[in-house]
Amino acid sequence: MRIFKFGGASVKDAESVKNVVKVLQTVGHDNTLVIVSAMGKMTNAFESLINHYFNNKSQVKSSLAVIINYHTNILNGLFSSENHIIYTKIKMFMNEMEAFLNVNKSPDYNFVYDQVVGYGELVSTTILSTYLNEVGLKNEWLDVRELIKTDNFYRRSKVNWEVTQSLISKNVNTKQLNITQGFLGSDSNNFTTTLGREGSDYSAAILAYCLNAENVTIWKDVPGVLNADPRYFEKTQLLHQISYREAIELAFYGASVIHPKTLQPLQRKEIPLYVKSFVNPEANGTCVSKGKDLDPKIPCFIVKKNQVLISLSTLDFSFIVEENISEIFNLLHLYKMKVDVIQNSAISFSVCIDNNYNNLEKLLHHLKAKFKVTYDDNVSLYTIRHYDNEAIKSIEKHKDVLLKQLYQETVQIVTQ
Ligand code: ADP
Ligand code: ASP
Ligand code: MG
Repeated sequence: MRIFKFGGASVKDAESVKNVVKVLQTVGHDNTLVIVSAMGKMTNAFESLINHYFNNKSQVKSSLAVIINYHTNILNGLFSSENHIIYTKIKMFMNEMEAFLNVNKSPDYNFVYDQVVGYGELVSTTILSTYLNEVGLKNEWLDVRELIKTDNFYRRSKVNWEVTQSLISKNVNTKQLNITQGFLGSDSNNFTTTLGREGSDYSAAILAYCLNAENVTIWKDVPGVLNADPRYFEKTQLLHQISYREAIELAFYGASVIHPKTLQPLQRKEIPLYVKSFVNPEANGTCVSKGKDLDPKIPCFIVKKNQVLISLSTLDFSFIVEENISEIFNLLHLYKMKVDVIQNSAISFSVCIDNNYNNLEKLLHHLKAKFKVTYDDNVSLYTIRHYDNEAIKSIEKHKDVLLKQLYQETVQIVTQ
């Protein structure tokens, strides 16, 4: 069995959905499980609906309209008759979601988030599955919530591997084309859960692991994994082969083309991961597998924008030692800050963090009680794997370097 994952960009409009058909016709679709994300940027649209539901009820109707119009436009581009059953199916999902919001009494944002945001994937897979059947690619639509079971840590649920393995082994017919949702799972009470933003790559890895798949292909709007994000760097180069270990490092430092959790399950069973272009499906793309670390072996650049650099020193010129450092880390953990780089000297400590959960104010308030604190909340963090002098120079040119840390294979540079 092969696992394919199509992300939001590959199903962002009717033309893109038609292109998915072309990809499947080109590379074959027997014994294939296709995992699909919400269309285009719909997950953001659902997030904004949920925000309005909690904070600004008067906007709920208009954000719902944005979602309905977006999908209706795609339906109009794919199906010739407005009496097609698909219109009713999508309407039923939307009605179900509205009914949930109307009766919901839970103040738990994360719980409500998962119940609502999941409709992005339920709708996209229903549209794709119906369209594929229509054009002769017979397939079965699977509800992934009946396959992937998780705990109830909503928005970042952890997989219950044992139950998931048994459900997948029992319920997936590997001899046909199957279509299912990325990103979603369900808890023991059958409430929808999600695996974290951009989690569909991880869904592909979970299904591949449990099905002992031959390989996984994630279809992207880029030719494969490049040595830098083409949105921010010129003259990028395609990486042909990457080892699991190297790919985990790249993803960990923030190369957003592969979700960091994806690689571990694949590595455990040595299932190759291909990253390929949905525009040019016959091109080789990138293969992540056992073997050469990196081919070609060239510097790889990763940038994370909008990071926060905090510098601390003691109020009384005493040393920053284990005790203070452990206290600082406890606070970083408490406020869910992702630590990118740290650097310390006798009386100072600097840390570059990702303020994903908007807790910076609270963290600073807490730190100021103990330390002299300075911070800059709009820095960029560059990581270069397999760096050389020229690579470092290219980053430092015309920028203020605020912090720099060199390791054997990796350099990290914080700039303003
Ligand atoms: P999808 O969600 O549709 O699967 P993403 O948008 O998450 O796709 O990922 C594809 C995007 O990742 C590319 O358009 C590119 O801008 C970005 N990207 C970041 N780093 C890299 C990299 N090293 N190589 C290729 N693309 C990268
Ligand atoms: N639709 C989800 C998101 O945008 C999951 C994914 O696309 O991977 O985060
Ligand atoms: Mg994505």
